[in-house]
Amino acid sequence: MKQAVNLVVAIDGPAASGKGTLARRLADILTLRYLDTGSLYRATGLTVLNTGGDPTIESDAVKASESLDLSYFSAEDLRSEEAGVAASHVAFIPSVRAVLLDFQRSVAANPGAAFKGAILDGRDIGTVVCPGADSKIFVEATLEVRIKRRLQELMERGEPVIEARIRADMTARDKRDRDRSVAPLKPADDAWVLDTSNMNADEALAVALDHIRGTGPFKIVSLDDTC
Ligand code: C5P
Repeated sequence: MKQAVNLVVAIDGPAASGKGTLARRLADILTLRYLDTGSLYRATGLTVLNTGGDPTIESDAVKASESLDLSYFSAEDLRSEEAGVAASHVAFIPSVRAVLLDFQRSVAANPGAAFKGAILDGRDIGTVVCPGADSKIFVEATLEVRIKRRLQELMERGEPVIEARIRADMTARDKRDRDRSVAPLKPADDAWVLDTSNMNADEALAVALDHIRGTGPFKIVSLDDTC
């Protein structure tokens, strides 16, 4: 008998750990709706900058989060280093996080009829947004590896790269994300930690799939039976 199951996968980790690529590929293979929650914070940060505001000022950031229009931004704009830094400033503000929380949870609860569930990636998916997720993966990689990946990504996009600046931005962003009082970056107690420092994207995908398929409801419910 077919069961109406909504599977939720939480992928968390620091910048350039490989979590976005992994989540996107898992979403395709497992027919899950994918939500890149970082793009919500990036769009909020860019909205503040584009309207002449300051991403560290609560009223500017909250106003931008409340009137968020993701379709306004290209993927290129959102993935820029400037957007990442602005995102980590607005993400530091608890009232901004509160505004964005409902939308993230609604995607997880109602991914749409075409999907067998949802996969969300971010910093606090397993701890705050979806603490009851069926599977939680915390993707790690060393700072050196993450800097290399980010430099490569920016070069491929033709953005000017200065290694010292990327290193400084990433170190400061890591610190803000890990040390903030609300929803800091950390693995949930029941998360599986996947260190991708010595793995390529295909290897990370293979071990993550093995892990997910052996976890909780994934073990019992064949994904082919959930549509
Ligand atoms: O994942 P990404 O690098 O796109 O995220 C940009 C920034 O948005 C992060 O550095 C973090 O400060 C913030 N963020 C967050 N919580 C999430 C997703 C992103 O605080 N769930």
